[in-house]
Amino acid sequence: MTHQTDLIILGGGCAGLSLGMNLANYGEASPRTLILEGRKEYTNDRTWCFWGGFGSESEKLSTHRWESFSITTAKDRITRRCKDNPYLMVASKDFYQSAQGVITQSSQIHLKMESIVSGEILKRDGYWQVETPTGVYKAPRIVDTRPKVPKLNDFHPLLWQSFLGEEITTEEEIFDPGCAELMDFWGSSPERILFLYVLPFSKKKALVEATVFGPEPLNAGDLEASFGALVKQRLQGCPYSSGRREHGILPMGAPLENRQKDPSYVHAGLMAGGARPSSGYAFQRIWKWSQECAMVLATGRPPISHAQDPFIIRTMDALFLQVLYSRPDLAPELFFSLFSKVDSVRVARFMSDRAGLADCLRIMASLPPVPFLSELAKTIGLPYDLKKRRGGR
Ligand SMILES: Cc1cc2nc3c(=O)[nH]c(=O)nc-3n(C[C@H](O)[C@H](O)[C@H](O)COP(=O)(O)OP(=O)(O)OC[C@H]3O[C@@H](n4cnc5c(N)ncnc54)[C@H](O)[C@@H]3O)c2cc1C
Repeated sequence: MTHQTDLIILGGGCAGLSLGMNLANYGEASPRTLILEGRKEYTNDRTWCFWGGFGSESEKLSTHRWESFSITTAKDRITRRCKDNPYLMVASKDFYQSAQGVITQSSQIHLKMESIVSGEILKRDGYWQVETPTGVYKAPRIVDTRPKVPKLNDFHPLLWQSFLGEEITTEEEIFDPGCAELMDFWGSSPERILFLYVLPFSKKKALVEATVFGPEPLNAGDLEASFGALVKQRLQGCPYSSGRREHGILPMGAPLENRQKDPSYVHAGLMAGGARPSSGYAFQRIWKWSQECAMVLATGRPPISHAQDPFIIRTMDALFLQVLYSRPDLAPELFFSLFSKVDSVRVARFMSDRAGLADCLRIMASLPPVPFLSELAKTIGLPYDLKKRRGGR
């Protein structure tokens, strides 16, 4: 039997649930929506961090905040206050729980677990047909948030951000719970950008992640050795026990090539423009998109995908990534310069898609000009055309 509804969301992760939650706010004005999620149940599989202080609804979901952060290179260390725009954390288990609570209360939104969408989704008589083991569903509109598999032929980010993290509990007090260690470049080499990211929850407990920016995505096994070495160095012999792990692969600088000819079917989420090219941060962008998309849908219009960033941001991100790609040896110096010379409020605005022209100019002025000018001279077709120079993958 085929079930019919107004809108189907494929994938109930961050993007699918964010859209579901925002649609629920519209009550009866929301289209009848079915979220099809492949998983049997949600687990605490990831930790989302972002800069707060901008009054976004999603900030209310945060369970931890840091009012200062540090950047460390082989030569220097800087700690900056960020009280006005604290670094906030949302544990995915809390997000999933909150979303399920909101969706359960809604008469218009339904979440169906264990519904792995398979096969091609074809349109017949104005309705998209979606097949799952739990049944066949049809709707005139689709929002597809299923992540594209990395390395598909049509998907070429400039760089990949791959990371492996673990919650660590130490026997001695070695963390500062007020300070997020955003980048510690110990272990970085001229060939690759590697750093440790530490989110301390208490003096003895932290999420510790080894992160690589590189031209290929890395699986957890690839990151194991670097992770071990960085943790050893950071803990300096302090005994510890290991807890929950997480692994992620985020695209950095993927062109938006997901435009579908039919406006009744759109792609959204991490691999469809949800990630900020220069940082891979996606949580806040996805939330903002979901608010806008819900508003559009509640007024009877077709769904929207992620909007392109303004030209200046696209160009700055593309240039920054191209410098990182060509000169990975410069990464520690570039990030240190950015975070130490620019006021943390401006950096937070820039990272959160809220930068004005003055913020952009201040950020450009903080960076050493030579590598950027030489990259600009080599590259005519910014943004994100490096793959042309590499001859594609
Ligand atoms: C470990 C980790 C940490 C991260 N940390 C941060 C961070 O600190 N800050 C930040 O801004 N971003 C972060 N990100 C990036 C980004 O915010 C997340 O990846 C986010 O979950 C992306 O949302 P999404 O909805 O696009 O994808 P997902 O949340 O992965 O959701 C996709 C959903 O689709 C479902 N699905 C897939 N295929 C099918 C199918 N065939 N049928 C039905 N369902 C299907 C999946 O089960 C999943 O639930 C992190 C990512 C990871 C992996």
